[in-house]
Amino acid sequence: MVVNLSEQFSIVGNWISEIRDEEVQKDRLRFRHNLVRIAEVAAYEISKTLPWIEKEVQTPLGTAVVKVLRDQPVITTILRAGLPMHQGLLNFFDKADNGFISAYRKHQRDGSFEISLEYVSCPELEGRVVIVSDPMLATGASLVKTIQYLREEGHPSEIHVVVAIACTVGIEFVLRSEPQAKIWCAAIDDELTAKGYIVPGLGDAGDLAFGNKAQM
Ligand code: URA
Repeated sequence: MVVNLSEQFSIVGNWISEIRDEEVQKDRLRFRHNLVRIAEVAAYEISKTLPWIEKEVQTPLGTAVVKVLRDQPVITTILRAGLPMHQGLLNFFDKADNGFISAYRKHQRDGSFEISLEYVSCPELEGRVVIVSDPMLATGASLVKTIQYLREEGHPSEIHVVVAIACTVGIEFVLRSEPQAKIWCAAIDDELTAKGYIVPGLGDAGDLAFGNKAQM
């Protein structure tokens, strides 16, 4: 399942416009903040699909029966570009458990790359709703490798993928490997360069959020 949060006109379109705009991108704070806001909207939409329970709350005037989330999800993020969206999800699922994974593209001399997972810190995932965030769903290789790793740690009851911009090829790749996953994105682009960048996309989301990195 794929949900494009900006398909119907909404304020999400404005934030997508800003994160793509090379002039606005000069303001890193704004770039990160827009990723936070997009993830907050995704968190709200995901929350509508999760199981809830009724509970009684004592107010100063009586007893109210309210509906609340039955279980807390696990929010998992791919370092480093995923951090602003992680914060956006956490702003809404404020009692969630958290996982962090460092996945990066290890480039070969011939221009190809493979995904290397290095740092992983994760809670128990058995039977839990897992939300994985990363701003760009390009080839889908790092997301699939991350989800496969998470699956070895337990059997999540549901997997949600939250991204800002998704590429059609990447969506197909993730859904081929994880047919039950639900993908929440704020825009879908059709083109992917040979180096795995989305076109028109926005450039390198990690660099735009946190600054350029030295080549190691
Ligand atoms: N990662 C990015 O930051 N940008 C892309 O276009 C693809 C992957």
